[in-house]
Amino acid sequence: MKALILERLWNLQENQTPLKAVDLPNPSPKENEILIKVSACGVCHTELDEIEGRTPPPRFPIILGHQIIGRVEKSGSRALRFKTGDRVGIAWIYSACGNCKFCRQGNENLCPEFRATGRDANGGYAQYTLVPENFAHSIPSIFSDVEAAPLLCAGAVGYRSLRLIDLEDGENLGFVGFGASAHLVIQIARHRFPRSKIFVFARGGAERNFAKELGAFWAGTIEEEPPEKIACAIDTTPAWQPIVEVMKNLERGGRLVINAIRKEDFDKEALLKVDYARHFWLEKEIKSVANVTRADVEEFLALAAKIPIRPEVQEYPLEGANQALLELKERKIRGAKVLKI
Ligand SMILES: [Zn+2]
Ligand SMILES: [Zn+2]
Repeated sequence: MKALILERLWNLQENQTPLKAVDLPNPSPKENEILIKVSACGVCHTELDEIEGRTPPPRFPIILGHQIIGRVEKSGSRALRFKTGDRVGIAWIYSACGNCKFCRQGNENLCPEFRATGRDANGGYAQYTLVPENFAHSIPSIFSDVEAAPLLCAGAVGYRSLRLIDLEDGENLGFVGFGASAHLVIQIARHRFPRSKIFVFARGGAERNFAKELGAFWAGTIEEEPPEKIACAIDTTPAWQPIVEVMKNLERGGRLVINAIRKEDFDKEALLKVDYARHFWLEKEIKSVANVTRADVEEFLALAAKIPIRPEVQEYPLEGANQALLELKERKIRGAKVLKI
């Protein structure tokens, strides 16, 4: 099979083609696994975190990619859940132990043995991939393969963020950054909280215009002060300054949820500008989102199909992955980037 592999960590400034095209033997499924013929794989900012070492793969070479759509090609001897040809998806959660306190409480995203697709196991930047059958998801028929791919991380982890902010309908909601995740979550938010006004903070004018097209009440730069305070905000940026800026716009008791596996260090000095009274006092909260559970993915897919939401997708061929990642790094974004394989 054709695959793109990462052989070591790279700084993207030094090497703009960190992924190498190779031919590998097709993998074969263990008894509880299914072999999937990949048709689409979303490109996520987390791939940059893996390549640049902020959340490094434990071993190399590794095939990245954790928003995978494909069809079951072959099932292991004890994998009976799907038939050959069924369309399935794989999200960031590749496996969890099932026995620890967190797994038993429904928080398998916090499992100490959590394994991530495309980091701890080979992912979807390839023609074929494997997954334990219980960690594959059926995909609603309303979405094409390329539309469905970004739902599996940008959408599902975004949905988890939306659950964690605990907003009431009518309260003001903010998005900090407006890329693959926010453009999906805003559509869910407008459905769930029809009376809430949505405020979007984004660096690029194109992102701000896109947010308005999708129903934002107000869109401004990261530094701008909105006309009203915000009850809850979701941050999807890789930087620190945006979260400092948005904290001063939160209402009393407001909450910020940070939807990012890792932050980059380039603007960390922004944290020194934190003023306790202005940014934190009055019981404001910050919470991070870690990973995703299978229940998040399932609930999100069902809701996405019911509304239905419309993913905005830019397609690239498999060999275009380095290009897509570079554009993501440079924040040339409208909606989600997807490899069509
Ligand atoms: Zn992701
Ligand atoms: Zn566990």
